[in-house]
Amino acid sequence: MTSIHGKVALVTGAASGIGKEIAHELARAGAAVAIADLNAAGADAVAADIVAAGGRAIGLAMDVTDEAAVDAGIARTVAELGGLDILVSNAGIQIVNPIEQFAYADWKKMLAIHLDGAFLTTKAALPHMYAAGADGQPRGGTVIYMGSVHSHLASPLKSAYVTAKHGLLGLSRTLAKEGAKHGVRSHVVCPGFVRTPLVDKQIPEQAREFGISEDEVVKKIMLGNTVDGIFTTVEDVAQTVRFLCEFPSAALTGQSFVVSHGWHMQ
Ligand code: NAD
Repeated sequence: MTSIHGKVALVTGAASGIGKEIAHELARAGAAVAIADLNAAGADAVAADIVAAGGRAIGLAMDVTDEAAVDAGIARTVAELGGLDILVSNAGIQIVNPIEQFAYADWKKMLAIHLDGAFLTTKAALPHMYAAGADGQPRGGTVIYMGSVHSHLASPLKSAYVTAKHGLLGLSRTLAKEGAKHGVRSHVVCPGFVRTPLVDKQIPEQAREFGISEDEVVKKIMLGNTVDGIFTTVEDVAQTVRFLCEFPSAALTGQSFVVSHGWHMQ
């Protein structure tokens, strides 16, 4: 039995890619999981797969930029799964463009999904983690933000993404300090390139922008600075999240963990 067996987790953006694998990994560790996504049918499908494998899960239609939808989804998670111990704020998109051509509407959309979404889900989750359990102690919990190597480095064309991913470090470190007395820990997990729909979309876009082949985008831009030229996998990221949720003390809090085949070393 693991330390998160019987705990309750909510993962945003969990209908696809990294979030989906995190949901499965936490379920395999015995947690009940709320799968929250803009794509409601996809969220329900992931929840159904977890239930079919013997786990506990519900699908939630949630736009993380909509405060009412976030509040309702967290309330439903607590009502149906019995509380909330783990929040993985993972939902994200990518829009690339040089700064002088970056539409203001796209900038605001990027910051809304990555930063407002992280803030709103955290704000709604914390009262449940801070609340006293049967023993009179706060229930406590773990909040994981999905950052990126771009929480630490910049790349051309990614102004909004780099800004948002850097911003998550600030939110996480503040929560690590505020949450400590309530038993809440906080981290940012920072993957390198992972082959998901989000990245597949960027390969032809970057080839066009930089005037190079798609193969060169992968070999030079995406993997050129890794130690071995290998993509990070969804499993690598999910296992890191699980490790942090299972870690037994606040010796680890307020940290960022770079999972990138050595692309960035801190
Ligand atoms: P993905 O496109 O496979 O999945 C993202 C999910 O988020 C989708 O299911 C989508 O429906 C959902 N989503 C988008 N907007 C939403 C909203 N407003 N509310 C709720 N859900 C919403 O992408 P992914 O690669 O799995 O990315 C997940 C996270 O990992 C993102 O935060 C991304 O920035 C980060 N990340 C990805 C990589 C990578 O290489 N793939 C690297 C570093 C960080």
